[in-house]
Amino acid sequence: MRKVFVTVEAAARTAPATVIVAIDGPSGTGKSSTSKAVAAKLGLRYLDTGAQYRAMTWWMLANGVDVEDPAAIATAAGKPVIVSGTDPAAPTITVDGADASGPIRTHEVTSKVSAVSAVPEVRARITELQRTLAATAEPGIVVEGRDIGTTVLPDADVKIFLTASPEVRAARRSGELKGKDAVDLASTQAALARRDAADSSRKASPLAKADDAVEVDTSDLTLDQVVECVVTLIEEKRTA
Ligand code: C5P
Repeated sequence: MRKVFVTVEAAARTAPATVIVAIDGPSGTGKSSTSKAVAAKLGLRYLDTGAQYRAMTWWMLANGVDVEDPAAIATAAGKPVIVSGTDPAAPTITVDGADASGPIRTHEVTSKVSAVSAVPEVRARITELQRTLAATAEPGIVVEGRDIGTTVLPDADVKIFLTASPEVRAARRSGELKGKDAVDLASTQAALARRDAADSSRKASPLAKADDAVEVDTSDLTLDQVVECVVTLIEEKRTA
């Protein structure tokens, strides 16, 4: 049998390169749907960082922590064990071993999450989880959030910042809310504006576009068009 010797350099050239993609932007811009679809299409892992902040908030509420008190939040920030599953076809989130995917989407959590996520001790804890997941994801990961391109993964290979008009965002978010959490369009738009203002004005790692991020306005685009656009940007980067 013929033996084939491959040098380390040649093996590195032929191995698929790890790729880290940061997708940031306010809510209702299509971040989750886009990030999941892009990750699935390219065989990458997927991380919803908003779910981690929601999980922390849910735990605080369930354990009687006063979420109006930053000192109380800071003291408790190290306690919950938050684990994210990164399969884009079935992302999961558990807190202390229990499935939290339903409870983290309630109106109560949504209305309190900005206050909890503004506390530096919470951000430090969750940022560490995010960096560990990104560092070990093979063959790469799409991470969606608010501060991924600026703070969590400033060396990401591709950075995207999604935007959309306030009307389009409110309409999309209303469509996602079901049952008792459904509210009228005007209230949804007002709630989104409040959350954006809080997320953009906080001192610790605010919602912001990285200088080197590509901004994509999704107002007049279908999900398929946005996915196509992001996949093209990633492929261009990979072959550059
Ligand atoms: O994306 P989603 O709407 O689920 O995010 C919920 C909240 O989590 C945001 O409003 C924000 O307060 C916080 N968040 C954050 N940093 C991230 C992702 C989410 O502060 N990277």
